[in-house]
Formats: sequence, C-alpha cells, structure tokens
Amino acid sequence: MRVLVTLDGNVADPDQPQIRVDDLGLMRGDGIFETVLVVDGKPRELDLHLNRLARSASLLELPPPDRAVWEARVRQVIDGWSWPDSPEMALKLVYTRGIDGGDGTPTGFALGMEIARKVRDQRRDGVAAVILERGFDSGLAERAPWLLLGAKSLSYAVNMAANREAARRGADEVIFSSADGIVLEGPTSNLILAKGRTLRTPPPNIGILPGTTQAGLFRAAERAGWSVKIESIGLDELTGADGLFLASSVRKVTRVHTLDGTALPDSAALHAELTALYESEY
Ligand code: PLP
Repeated sequence: MRVLVTLDGNVADPDQPQIRVDDLGLMRGDGIFETVLVVDGKPRELDLHLNRLARSASLLELPPPDRAVWEARVRQVIDGWSWPDSPEMALKLVYTRGIDGGDGTPTGFALGMEIARKVRDQRRDGVAAVILERGFDSGLAERAPWLLLGAKSLSYAVNMAANREAARRGADEVIFSSADGIVLEGPTSNLILAKGRTLRTPPPNIGILPGTTQAGLFRAAERAGWSVKIESIGLDELTGADGLFLASSVRKVTRVHTLDGTALPDSAALHAELTALYESEY
C-alpha cells in the first residue's frame, strides 16, 4: 500500500501523475529528501530527520522547511496507513526547488510505502559488500561546500550506479572509499565498525551524511556501556573488525558478512546484540 500527502495537505493518489514535467527536482535532481522508518504508527528519529532536512535545505539554499507543516504531513500519512496489517512503513519526505522558471515555491510531498522484501531479508541474513572509490578526498567537503557532499539531495544517480556495480561484482552493497584511503559511507547507509566493546563510525565533515540510525544505535550502546566514537576509519581497518554494519532507517542495522568476496568473521551474535540495543531505543 502507499499513502501520499502533498505539502499543502492534500491526500493524493500515488498512482496518478502529481509532479509537473518542469519540476526542478525531476529535471535536475535539485531538491532534497528524507526516508523515515515508521513502526506500528511511530516514526523513528523524526526530530533528527527533520533537522537533517533543514540542514540539507540550507546547504542547497532552499527555503527553510516549515517544521510544523512537515510534522503535520507525517501525521497525515501515518493516519492514512493500514496499521497493524502493515506494521512498517518507509516514509519519504521530498522537497524540491519547484518548477523551472516559477516563483520559487518548493514542491513537497510525503509518501508512505511498504518496505521491500529484499531489505527485510537482508536485515536477517546480512549483505555482501564491495569497496568502491568515491573519487574525492576526505578534506573536499570542507574545501568545496558547493559540491553538497553530505547533503541528502535528490541527486542519487551515482549512488544507484554504485549499487549496480556491486551487483555486477556479485555483491549487495557498497562501502565508498575516499581518495585518501578513508572509509566514507554506503550509497544509502552509514558504516559502523565494531571492535571489542567499541563502535566507530566516520565523521560527517568528511562529506557523508550524519545518520539517524547510527545516532540511535550509538545512544543505546553508550547507555549499555559500549564506547562509541565518531572518527575516521582507514580502509585497512575493515578486515580487522569484529563486525561491520551498514545502518540506515529502512535497513536498520544490517551486518556485512562478506567484503570484496572474502567472508568476514561471523558477527551474527554481535548483530543480534546491536539490533536488540537499537530496538530498545524505540
Ligand atoms: N548515508 C547516505 C548516503 C544515505 O542515503 C543514508 C540514508 O538513506 C544514510 C547514510 C543513513 O541515514 P539514516 O540512518 O538517517 O537513514
């Protein structure tokens, strides 16, 4: 099932055309988005998602999103969903620069969708990942803010192409590397490395998204006595980890079982522990 509500509050038919062909989000990928996981009617990390929407809008110099309006749209979509028959929803918030040559009024909508079977299987079984170059060094985001590294923009063609390259190499997922040998993120996820009782994830200032799922997991882990660190991770550290995980709203905390074709140490028990911690937050 799907539920669509436009930014002005109209409940619309997701099977009918709703976007103009001259919308800059469509023509140039000039817009931003968020994907929120909603479980049993409760959105997870909505505040962090709306903070990040505002941050992305500011990076793209879009009009600041009206938080109360977006909260109301989120509520409308949730209220229109068939709980408890469909206990989980991926809720996409999309906000574009509006129509080409228009008056600058942004286009926005909130769309609730089912979560793909493949994603649910991967939560349980883990994924094989490959390391792919992203082509920039870890200092570029700060040197060149106009590149919008770390904004959640609609320009995800490269991210999707990387996933296809992973599939060509027989893998499910990608871990992007920087030109200076640093771990960045996945095309739609953050990397978390576990070693001993420490969890680490790379810092957003190297040109990656600050993850809401990673944040939730780190809060829970810290409370449970883990040490959590936001710091650079060298590519050479990946194979020595006790576990590598890809975190995102829809996939939750998914374990990487194979890296570049080589099986990693079994982290199923660690995955179960981290998943329990993550779920305890909600
Ligand atoms: N990094 C990128 C590039 C993403 O697209 C996403 C989410 O889709 C994430 C990280 C993870 O963010 P979150 O946990 O807030 O979903």
